[in-house]
Amino acid sequence: MELAIVEIGNPILREVSEEVSASEIKTDSFQSFVDNLIETKRIANGAGLAAPQVSVLKRVFVVENIDNPRYPYMPNIPLTVVINPRITFLSEERYNIYDGCLSIPHLRGVVDRYAEIRVEGLDRHGSPLDFIVKGISTGPFQHEDDHLNGILFPDKVKDSKTFCTIGEFKNRYEHDFRQEVEALIKKYGS
Ligand code: ZN
Repeated sequence: MELAIVEIGNPILREVSEEVSASEIKTDSFQSFVDNLIETKRIANGAGLAAPQVSVLKRVFVVENIDNPRYPYMPNIPLTVVINPRITFLSEERYNIYDGCLSIPHLRGVVDRYAEIRVEGLDRHGSPLDFIVKGISTGPFQHEDDHLNGILFPDKVKDSKTFCTIGEFKNRYEHDFRQEVEALIKKYGS
């Protein structure tokens, strides 16, 4: 079932979400919620979606990017559901990315993200997750994790002159940004 995505200005996006208990993960209602979160992300062509974006203040997000028309230059990321995530930065290295958000229609802006991260947490069945992500693919994980703490990408845009609509991004900036993305993929393999 498709869920309603709330947009910037809705105070729920500024709340800090609560951890999900092991017993709740096993419930049918939580499992259907995860299914709905995935379905909603896919319908909206998001690279990720976090529970607060559908008005649920629980620490769970989904990341998946497969031949995504919203982010055609991004490498593919298989479907990953993370519950109670903990992200640690494995180096100080950062890169710039034109970020976007389903809760902020049409807007892009440049944010810097850590280039090497470790993601720990639980999968949708409550089993431990622990993996490393490198390069441009770290962006969606950091973006979705921020949602669980009430942080939206414009909060992290250092130069407000980089804000642009998706249309202006495609016309003016995508060409150069693609080259930066290709360099990152070459460096990190993802
Ligand atoms: Zn978002």
